Amino acid sequence: MHSLGISLEIIRYDIIEAIIKDFFAPVSSNLDLLRLNVGFIIHQNVGFSRDFPFEIPSIYLPPDLDLRKLSGIVRVTRATQGLLVQIRMRARVVAECVRCLNKFYQPLKIESTELYAFSLNSVTDSGLLVPENGKIDLAPIIREEMLVAIPISPLCKQDCKGLCPICGEDLNETACNHDEEQIDPRLGVLKSLLVDEQDTASD
Ligand SMILES: [Zn+2]
Ligand SMILES: [Zn+2]
Repeated sequence: MHSLGISLEIIRYDIIEAIIKDFFAPVSSNLDLLRLNVGFIIHQNVGFSRDFPFEIPSIYLPPDLDLRKLSGIVRVTRATQGLLVQIRMRARVVAECVRCLNKFYQPLKIESTELYAFSLNSVTDSGLLVPENGKIDLAPIIREEMLVAIPISPLCKQDCKGLCPICGEDLNETACNHDEEQIDPRLGVLKSLLVDEQDTASD
């Protein structure tokens, strides 16, 4: 396992197989994969649309985003003022759980609609224009939307038990029982108060 050059031992076992497959997949930084040739749509009637399906095992979006299993559909529709580009995509990024500090794949989902105007007269707030070469580069939009979709506090799973504050063990994998043995002194006071109350109640 160590020959992989990464610390697999800290990664959840149920996703190890998927990760190994992924790590050996060639990491593509071929951004041509995200360039759509839309030249032929410009000359179609208003309302014409074409779907572009995507299935990319991994792609690096400079300067900072490494996406795995990027998939989805981009629909390009000829509108009066320009081309309407509707992006629906999913991907995964390596994230670190805020509770147990293990690395895991965070699934991400984005939906975005942009108008690429034919001319500056009809350009929207986004400032997007249909490029003269007829190729729309989706990388900047996908990168931006995916970055926004990453949770501020990623969790490997909703009920992650985190690390023991006393011994540092991953409580998802071992029960060190420190939570039962050692009670925070402040909680101890609370506990004795509760016991007193119960005693009084039963009198
Ligand atoms: Zn976790
Ligand atoms: Zn412990």
